[in-house]
Amino acid sequence: MKTSTAGRRQRIAILGSTGSIGVSTLDVIARHPDRFEVFGLTSHQRVPELVEQCLRFSPRIAVLPDRERAREARRLLAERGSRTEVLEGAQALGQLAAEPEVDAVMAAIVGAAGLPACMAAAAAGKRLLLANKEALVVGGALFMRSVAEGGATLLPIDSEHSAIFQCLPEDRGAWGERIDHIVLTASGGPFRRRAPESLHAVTPAEAVAHPNWVMGRKISVDSATMMNKALEVIEARWLFDLAPEQVRVVIHPQSIVHSMVVCRDASVLAQLGTPDMRVPIAYGLSFPERIESGASRLDFLQLQGLTFEPVDERLFPGLGLAWQALAAPAGATAALNAANEVAVESFLSGTIRFTDIHTVNARTVERLAGRHGAVSTIDDLLDIDRRARAEAHSAVAALAPR
Ligand code: NAD
Ligand code: MG
Repeated sequence: MKTSTAGRRQRIAILGSTGSIGVSTLDVIARHPDRFEVFGLTSHQRVPELVEQCLRFSPRIAVLPDRERAREARRLLAERGSRTEVLEGAQALGQLAAEPEVDAVMAAIVGAAGLPACMAAAAAGKRLLLANKEALVVGGALFMRSVAEGGATLLPIDSEHSAIFQCLPEDRGAWGERIDHIVLTASGGPFRRRAPESLHAVTPAEAVAHPNWVMGRKISVDSATMMNKALEVIEARWLFDLAPEQVRVVIHPQSIVHSMVVCRDASVLAQLGTPDMRVPIAYGLSFPERIESGASRLDFLQLQGLTFEPVDERLFPGLGLAWQALAAPAGATAALNAANEVAVESFLSGTIRFTDIHTVNARTVERLAGRHGAVSTIDDLLDIDRRARAEAHSAVAALAPR
């Protein structure tokens, strides 16, 4: 159901408010108390942080999937006189996302776990700010159909996709005839200059230390393997309704050009800025207007140059899996995403090596290829997600202990 926000503040629900994107979203919101009010906040495990956010932003609702944690949050909030109601259980995320009083939902949960709540927001016709790329990688065509049928407004928060979106006209009907292809930029992460043979020894601490962005652990590892870019290729295919070959990737180590649209007439449109997620977040919140984001301005005279290089496939074998999965029957991208979530967790917990992440992903996609049934509902996709996780766990077990 759509509600008019004319003359009142937009009510925002932030799913995953204690994460990196969640915290940056609250930072932008806090700069505009006249425009936005926080309706709901959610966290997976971080009770003290969620409680502090509730005390500061006084949301109507807070959600913690776990019952014990929800109880703890209720106790802490009551002690401090807060009136925020704490809901528990994973379904409460979907309830909050579809709540009639909510105008905009920031989807900032990491992983496929965020998909059901995104689907709920889409079906309820919300303004859906999508940071949770895994949800779209898993949901694919069904996700986009739900957005269209629900009358939702899907706004990309991933910096590359926000850049592309900012380079395109507001009329989506004009996108197809305008775009020749798009170029997603990638920083190359911390290992751009490494010898491929040395990557097997990479530690979790090295992999999460990104040169240009401060982010959650999962996306940081994904940036180091460039699986993040693979997920973004799939995300772009759906967001902009492109053929897979219309999505290209180039390494741009400075992370200043956030991505580019190459038009039919060979003109190139790009969006530039300092690497700060508050810019795409502010744009998602205020679209089609623009508001202060808190990010520093780009100082062109301080730039040491903008450079571009091809992706070295020996260093980043995972990137190619994106096009491979897009060429396979629907469900392959869900399998790839699930495998990668398991592989990254296994790497972070010290069970497999950095280079094993790709082995697990490639094996899982290969083993599941063509073995699953047709995909006509989200439950079919969640089933593929479960089977791919089981396959990926066996691949992990076969690789460890090393
Ligand atoms: P993060 O790990 O910092 O935060 C994740 C949030 O999701 C936390 O609030 C956590 O409590 C919650 N969460 C985690 N697992 C959950 C589960 N199973 N159920 C419910 N809630 C859960 O991650 P992040 O870096 O903020 O990234 C969030 C999403 O945004 C990811 O999909 C990521 O790819 C995307 N993204 C992030 C950045 C960035 O700069 N951090 C940039 C582009 C896109
Ligand atoms: Mg990105």
